[in-house]
Amino acid sequence: MHIHTTLSPCTELGEMTPRAIVRAAIDKGLDMIAICDHNSSRNSAATIRAAQSSSLAVIPGIEITSSEEVHVLGLFPSVNQAQLAQEEVYARIAGVNDEQAIGYQVVVDEFDMVEDLDKTLLIGATTLNIYRVVDLIHGLGGLAVASHVDRTGFGVFSQLGFIPDDLKFDALEISKHIDCSEAKKKFGQCSDYTLVSSSDAHYVSDIGAAYTEAEMEYASFKELRLAFQGIEGRRIIGPCRPI
Ligand SMILES: [Zn+2]
Ligand SMILES: [Zn+2]
Repeated sequence: MHIHTTLSPCTELGEMTPRAIVRAAIDKGLDMIAICDHNSSRNSAATIRAAQSSSLAVIPGIEITSSEEVHVLGLFPSVNQAQLAQEEVYARIAGVNDEQAIGYQVVVDEFDMVEDLDKTLLIGATTLNIYRVVDLIHGLGGLAVASHVDRTGFGVFSQLGFIPDDLKFDALEISKHIDCSEAKKKFGQCSDYTLVSSSDAHYVSDIGAAYTEAEMEYASFKELRLAFQGIEGRRIIGPCRPI
């Protein structure tokens, strides 16, 4: 539910391409992944197309950095909605990417061919505060998941201290470095939310390093929403790490 592509400048250049991601996800036995690059969704559609002849479901997403430097995953029912979120995010970023210092932001097609180098400063914070980030995602029919809440940087607890009652995340993501019971012990509010875990993969070898088991009729965004809500027989069984 949280995989970066070669569009994120912090990934290894040329490694996280759609075909490599799809192959690794299938090899690891995953049924569904989400593409969530920093402040952009430009490689989501290519990854969906790369998976088209396989059984892997790919959800278009984005990892938005709020003005408080909290990372929030937006997962969307369609590429169109993810792109609309991205347009709003791009309008709230000042600055140009320094490719030499930060890294290249490579847009690719479903055959891993380079289409463009994105010049927007994707690695920094947007001017959208955390409430506006969550509202933007929900307004486009998406699910808002607080990223890696246990991390000492860019997590909601590290940046805000706690989750305000009126901030409506659909789920919290814990990293591969912590399990459910540790997370609940360390951050009491984890008990109030659906918890998921994802690899936050920046390298192919990271894919599947943490994952989430869910009970759903089939792998799709619609089913994931029901599982987050725990209704109609769908549910999130819990975060997992490979043994
Ligand atoms: Zn993050
Ligand atoms: Zn991430």
